[in-house]
Amino acid sequence: MRTSLIIVRCGVLGAAVWALAGCGASAGSAQDGQRSQVVATTMQVADFAREVGGDRVEVTGILDADTEPHDYEPTPSDAEAVSEADLVVSNGANLDDWLGDLLEQAGADAPRVQAARGVALLPTDEEGFPGDPHVWHDPDAAARMVDNIAAGLIRADPAGRGAYRRRAVAYKRRVDRMAATIRESFAPIPPERRDLVTSHDAFGYFARAYDVNVVGSVLPVVTTEAEPSAQQIRALVDEIRAEGVRTIFTEEAVEPRLERRVAEEAGASVSTSLYADVLGGPGSGRAGFVEAELANARAMRSAWVGS
Ligand SMILES: [Zn+2]
Repeated sequence: MRTSLIIVRCGVLGAAVWALAGCGASAGSAQDGQRSQVVATTMQVADFAREVGGDRVEVTGILDADTEPHDYEPTPSDAEAVSEADLVVSNGANLDDWLGDLLEQAGADAPRVQAARGVALLPTDEEGFPGDPHVWHDPDAAARMVDNIAAGLIRADPAGRGAYRRRAVAYKRRVDRMAATIRESFAPIPPERRDLVTSHDAFGYFARAYDVNVVGSVLPVVTTEAEPSAQQIRALVDEIRAEGVRTIFTEEAVEPRLERRVAEEAGASVSTSLYADVLGGPGSGRAGFVEAELANARAMRSAWVGS
């Protein structure tokens, strides 16, 4: 019975991917000992879950360093992972709203934590969004996300309460130190020189937290799915020239074709890529949120001081 149920669940995701991935073949395999199985959507919430969970949990991240969260299409192996999870962690604020369909299609009934729950969202004009979903770039919001994830882990594994609380406190201290380091590194640079032009509108919270000026983004939206119009590109180029912006920041996991064009037209250069929606891959030294955010700050600082 179980096998046929799983085939039906996976089949609704699409026969082609189903066949490629051999969906259902390994579903129902034994879980990993006593560790709680956590599935997390974005790399940031997966990192927070690993930091808080320590060796009591095994975290499976759905997205990786090459995968944008906005237009992700879940695979049969994602369906298998969520159907076996003890806890599912998402960002929330519609960044990863494809999770709802995934859980439904997989028939998953694991408790769910929306990490951004309770964070006051920055407004956006964009339809379908309750606010700007890129909340983790605000260190105070990141701490709130860590607390929400810790609460979810405790509900799923009450025996780990003490360990999760201790690890959450220790990790939030690291986030605090990261924020202090970024503020110190920006302090010598006059705020009016801290201009940011990025691929999409993902750094509003970062800008507010560290007193940075978002001049614009090549995709003038909080998703990475849209194409800007010729008029929008022209307006951005004019703005970049008027503000004397010298650097356009590209983003990891976003193809920088338009960014190069805008930079060329505006007489600016294209920078090292920022970690907007993803973190670095394994072995990059930026696979953790703290390391990726510090790398972002170093890239911005270098551009602003012209080194
Ligand atoms: Zn984004």
